[in-house]
Amino acid sequence: MKKSRNKNRKLWIDLAFISMIALLSISLIFLSHSTKSNANQPTNNRKAPEITKEESTKESAFPGILIKTEVSNDKYSPYSIQYPQSKVKSFNAQINKYIDEQLDTYLIAMQENKRIGSKTPGELNIAFEIFPHTSGSYSFVMITGTYLGGANGYTSFNTIHLNTESANIIKINDLFGHEESKLEKLSSLVRDSIKKDPSLKDKVFEEEMMLATEPKWSNFEKFALIEDTLVLYFDEYEIASGAAGAPVIAVPLAELSEQLVAPFKPIVSEEVLPKPPVEEDTEDIIEEEQEDEVNDSIETETQVDEQTENAKKKQVALTFDDGPDPKVTPQILATLAKYDAKATFFMLGSRVEFYPEIANDVLEAGHELGNHTWTHANLTNMTSDAITQEVSRTNNIIEQSTGETPTVFRPPYGAFNDDMLNVLSLPVVLWNVDTLDWKHRDAAQLLASVKSSVHDGSTVLMHDIHLSTAQGLESVLEYLTSEGYTFVTVSELE
Ligand code: ZN
Repeated sequence: MKKSRNKNRKLWIDLAFISMIALLSISLIFLSHSTKSNANQPTNNRKAPEITKEESTKESAFPGILIKTEVSNDKYSPYSIQYPQSKVKSFNAQINKYIDEQLDTYLIAMQENKRIGSKTPGELNIAFEIFPHTSGSYSFVMITGTYLGGANGYTSFNTIHLNTESANIIKINDLFGHEESKLEKLSSLVRDSIKKDPSLKDKVFEEEMMLATEPKWSNFEKFALIEDTLVLYFDEYEIASGAAGAPVIAVPLAELSEQLVAPFKPIVSEEVLPKPPVEEDTEDIIEEEQEDEVNDSIETETQVDEQTENAKKKQVALTFDDGPDPKVTPQILATLAKYDAKATFFMLGSRVEFYPEIANDVLEAGHELGNHTWTHANLTNMTSDAITQEVSRTNNIIEQSTGETPTVFRPPYGAFNDDMLNVLSLPVVLWNVDTLDWKHRDAAQLLASVKSSVHDGSTVLMHDIHLSTAQGLESVLEYLTSEGYTFVTVSELE
C-alpha cells in the first residue's frame, strides 16, 4: 500500500515537472503571438515590413553542449526553434534532420494554406530540455508545438541521448542490453501507469494505446532518464484524445532493476548486496568500533551524574550519500543550518560533475566532503586500476568544484575488502545506524529508525537524493537535540 502511494507521489512530481515544460512551450507560443501582433501594428515606417531571420548560438549550462536558436518573424509562417548541438557529428546530424523535417512540413503546409486563401497565420515552436543522468548520459527532450491555423495544432516530442564522454548515442535497446523480451515488464508498467493516470481518464484510445505500448523497441524510442525514473513520451492524439494533451508517463527505474543493464540500473540500496566476506583486518576495525561504542555508553551512564550537563555531550555523525541533488541537497543544508548541525556528504563524482555549485554549497556550509565513487559501483568486483579510477576521478571533480579534496571515503553498499583498502588513500567510513530511507521513502519513518537505534557515537546513514529524507530531517534533528546530542562530522567523531 505504502509503496504504491510513494510511487504515485513520485510520478506526480515528474508529471508536474513535465507539465511545467509543456506550459513553458505554450507560453512561448503566446509570447511570440503577442510580439508578433505588436510588430503588426501600423507604424510610421513606410517601408514594407521585412522578414527577418535570426540565428544565434550560445553555451548551455552543460559542458560541450551548445544551444542554437533560429527565429523567423515572417507574419504568415513564423517560427522559433531552439535545439542542442555538440561536438559529436552523428548527434548533430540526427538533431538537424529532425529540425529540418519539422520546419519543412510546417512551411509546406503553410504554403498550401496560403494557396487555398487561408489568412490565419501559423506557428512553429521547438524548445528542448536537458536532463543529465548518473549513467553519464544526457537526455535531450525536444517539444514541438505546431499550429497550422484553424483547429489544426498539435504537440509532439522527440528525444535523443548522448554520452558526451564516449560520444555514443544511447538508444532504448542499450538500456535493456539489446534484449527485446525485457521490454515486456516495461510495457506492462506503462500500461498500468496509463490506466491509473487521472489526467488520461476516459480519454485513452484503447486500441491505439495497446499497439503503441507493445514490447517493441520502436514503441519506446521517445524516452528520457530523469533522476530515478524512465519517462516515456507520446505525441498528442497518439494514444489519447486531444483533451489529454501529449501524454508523459514516468516509470520508476527501481521497478526495472532486473531488466536494465549497467550503468542504467537504478542506484537502489546500500543493503541489497550480500555483505562482503569479513576478512581479518576489517573485522578488527568493526569490532574496535563496536567496543568503543560500548565503552562510551558505559562511561556516559556511570559519569553522567557527576558531570555537569555540558561537560560531555553525546555525539552523532549524520551522513548523506549519493548526492548532490539539485532539489534535495539544498533543503537538507537549510535544515542542518537551522540546528547549526555539521554533517558529512559522501558524493558521487558523476553527480558532482552535473551539480558542482551544490557540492560547493555543501563545503561552504561547513560540512565534511566524502568520496562515494564516480558511478556507485560495487568495488569488490573491480580491478585495482578500475577502483583507483573511480576514486581519483571523484576526488578530482570534487576538488575542481569546491577547491577541497574529500577527506573520507565510503564504498557503495558498504562493500569493501582488504585488497581495496591497499588501493584507497582515504580512511573508509561505514555507518552503524541505517535509516533505510531509500527503502521506505517515508518522512515519518526516518525519525522512527533513528530513535530505535541511535546512541552516543553513532554514524547515521541517510541519502540526500530523496525528498522524503529532506522532509523528515527536521524531526530527527529536533529529537536528537532534545536528547542532548551534538552533531559532528565523521572525522570529528571521537
Ligand atoms: Zn550509496
